[in-house]
Amino acid sequence: MKELCSLTLSEAREKLVNREIGAEELTQAHLERIAAVDPKLNSYVLVTPERALSDARESEKRLAAGGAAVRPLEGCPIALKDIFVTKGIRSTAASKILHNFIPPYEGTPSKKLAEAGSVLLGKLNMDEFAMGSSNENSAFGPCRNPWDTERTPGGSSGGSAAAVAAGLCLASLGTDTGGSIRQPASLCGVVGLRPTYGRVSRYGVIAFASSLDQVGPFARTVTDAAHVLKAIAGHDERDSTSVDAPVPDYPALLHGELKGRRIGVPKEYFVEGLDPEVEGSVRRCIAAMEKEGAEIVEISLPHTEYAIACYYIIAPSEASSNLARYDGVRYGLREYGEGGLEQMYVASRSQGFGAEVKRRIMLGTYCLSAGYYDAYYLKAQKVRTLIAQDFRRAFEKVDVIATPTTPTTAFKIGEKTDDPLQMYLSDIYTVPTNLGMICGISLPCGADSKGLPIGLQFLGRPFGEAELLDIAYGYEQTLGFRGKPVI
Ligand code: GLN
Repeated sequence: MKELCSLTLSEAREKLVNREIGAEELTQAHLERIAAVDPKLNSYVLVTPERALSDARESEKRLAAGGAAVRPLEGCPIALKDIFVTKGIRSTAASKILHNFIPPYEGTPSKKLAEAGSVLLGKLNMDEFAMGSSNENSAFGPCRNPWDTERTPGGSSGGSAAAVAAGLCLASLGTDTGGSIRQPASLCGVVGLRPTYGRVSRYGVIAFASSLDQVGPFARTVTDAAHVLKAIAGHDERDSTSVDAPVPDYPALLHGELKGRRIGVPKEYFVEGLDPEVEGSVRRCIAAMEKEGAEIVEISLPHTEYAIACYYIIAPSEASSNLARYDGVRYGLREYGEGGLEQMYVASRSQGFGAEVKRRIMLGTYCLSAGYYDAYYLKAQKVRTLIAQDFRRAFEKVDVIATPTTPTTAFKIGEKTDDPLQMYLSDIYTVPTNLGMICGISLPCGADSKGLPIGLQFLGRPFGEAELLDIAYGYEQTLGFRGKPVI
């Protein structure tokens, strides 16, 4: 069972197509491994065995028919962050306020994955409404890091990263508003890709901060991430922010040539607060790429120091507006309180939301209130433009930018919960990407002295996912870190 679950998605697909393994057998192996291992991790908030086995049987039929009947992700077991709305399957965003929400419709990313022939194993743990960096803000309790179960897997898509790392699915989907794909990918030693804003439809993705949210894959290799991106990317008339541009054949464009590539290294990303072991590992990787023929260019992204402050105005402001819909009337938890309608709103929201979500709603409401809007939200929008401009200038000189993904490796559960600012600082290298509307990927590049994985981040031009993946692939093929957690 373990052997089947440690295949990469591409390997599994090949064995399925060649009929060396069966789709039901592969799905069953994953369900058994989830039952055996996940009690230690809590990466799933819901396992859907009936749906998984029925998907697998449908795949089996198409695999038996062969040829054109076989779809791109045929028979591959995947799972979804619980922020994706799935028809008839409870979708909670890890919040008590949605504890009983069974959506009447299917969102686009999950629909596209299903249409690509994948098998849905279940829904994954996360920080409530994707607010957090450690998965500790979940109504289902924390998810644990498969490399060390005393530590967090990162967040907010902690379950999506942990499940892929532990062999509990071949790939998964997460969302990244300020780093929630790349940060947990880094802390769990897997590949996590945040596409450009507009690349993937967000129809049926529970909204956090609408000008920043984007959907992307977690996988064990760059090639696997490319396959999943190809399946989910593209215009969707149901999401007016999805861009009507052709979707490149990402896997076919992976060549892995590092020679002649111009790789920018921003000096603002190697400053105080960066763990020396992480810095050492990332610098060694950059030097190794230079040996492979890449051209390393020192660059400057001068407004980086304002990114966290800017993000923590824009994201909570948009969240306070998006989360106004959870009123106890339309769906989700309802508590009556003492009295009339207003008390019902107050009681439902007070009991339904967790502490971090309430903090963000208060911050955001304040920043948007009359008299403060110009001083906070509008000002932050201007700073955001400067951050985007930094990237635009940098990409005139380089093809991609290389940085650490996170300032430290996985931290202990409970270590940062009393200090929200410390927690916010763990996103320092990921947040600017989202503000700048570019794309980014994290991939494992080494381990620290405790044996915990270190992530290397590449940032690419808007809609430059093909080039970004290709350079990441080049790195992975020649120099990549191949450790796996023992769990
Ligand atoms: N950790 C960041 C936050 O708490 C980013 C979250 C995300 O990308 N969803 O907002």
